[in-house]
Amino acid sequence: MNLLLYGAPGGGKGTQADYLRGRFGIPHVATGDILRAEVKAGTELGKQANAILERGELVPDEVIIGIVRRRLREPDCERGFILDGFPRTIPQAKALDRLMEEMGRRFQRVLYMSVPAEELIRRLSGRLTCPACQRTYHPEHNPPGAHPNCPHDGAELVMRDDDRPEAARHRIEVYLAYTLPVLDYYRKEGLVSEIDGLGTIQSVRHRVLAALGHAPDPAPTHSRSPG
Ligand code: AMP
Repeated sequence: MNLLLYGAPGGGKGTQADYLRGRFGIPHVATGDILRAEVKAGTELGKQANAILERGELVPDEVIIGIVRRRLREPDCERGFILDGFPRTIPQAKALDRLMEEMGRRFQRVLYMSVPAEELIRRLSGRLTCPACQRTYHPEHNPPGAHPNCPHDGAELVMRDDDRPEAARHRIEVYLAYTLPVLDYYRKEGLVSEIDGLGTIQSVRHRVLAALGHAPDPAPTHSRSPG
């Protein structure tokens, strides 16, 4: 199954992707995570991307397209993947079309997580991220637990530079100007399921599963904050 997760920063894509990855056993390919890993590793690409990420702007299309082309051809993507954070512009969407055609694949669904702008700002401004596993938490909606560190790997949680109010607001503006129009591209193909991203993580998850034609999990599962 190949899925495209679509929506604004803070819309809950990462949180739902984390669940879907476990449920369907396919990798979560998030371009933001890939770029942050490059920055952390201090690679040439990371050095170039760092300032762009901090400002909340988009890295050049040709750079990110190259990254996605390589990543989706890796063996773990053979059974399918959850693509998150890409495409963010029309040229990226066109490049992805070509790549999918070359690979003989298609998307089963584009899941559009719809959340009002004021709620996005609220979520981003309190969001804490684990620098090791990239899971996100929110002190109010889903605290990491009694211990302030990441419950998965114990790393100290941090606020991402681009989640600080000014950068977060700019990311949402960039999303509205460049990325939201990409949705029409997929709407024309009848692939988009709009998911109401408000409510608990569990209720959003049920909507996601329903859109994919799957029943909710019978057993309770660990949940984490929207982001
Ligand atoms: P995200 O974690 O998806 O919010 O992405 C964090 C940052 O990485 C974005 O604000 C951009 O600077 C950069 N980025 C991630 N994906 C893309 C993309 N598809 N095109 C351009 N820049 C991207």
